[in-house]
Amino acid sequence: MSDANPIAVWLYRARAFRPTRKPGQDRNPTSGNSERVASISRASNEARAQGVPLWITSGKRSDAQQRQLWRDAIAAYGSPEAARRWVLPAEESPHVRGDAVDVGPREGASWLEANGNRWGLCRTFMNEWWHFELATTPGTPCPPMWPDAAVRADRLARH
Ligand SMILES: [Zn+2]
Repeated sequence: MSDANPIAVWLYRARAFRPTRKPGQDRNPTSGNSERVASISRASNEARAQGVPLWITSGKRSDAQQRQLWRDAIAAYGSPEAARRWVLPAEESPHVRGDAVDVGPREGASWLEANGNRWGLCRTFMNEWWHFELATTPGTPCPPMWPDAAVRADRLARH
């Protein structure tokens, strides 16, 4: 847990990561980017076949959900600048676009980090072991991780 910010862990447990589905229930399509949904379904089926627990803790979020998370994060971290490292405003969040998925538990996330590129799924941020996006062509290596969500959002905003 060397990269785990204690407040992020609290957010993980308190809200953002409240499981939306239990193990074994994620064969049903969830909303969001359909390619992403199919990829995570295949990955979690393969993980389960290997005896590794892996499930979605947070996928697509509504604008309202993300706004609430953003307010909570500002309260928890003390400023928008600090909060942005862990939670983005709704207009910037890949979860609102349906492009991101958070997974658990830690064992499953580690498995997905090692194997997810088979389905194009990559861990995106160094500070969020649970957050994955479609980020590569299936079967090819994942791109380097960003330090955190704020660094990427700021980079994208400038280009
Ligand atoms: Zn996420």
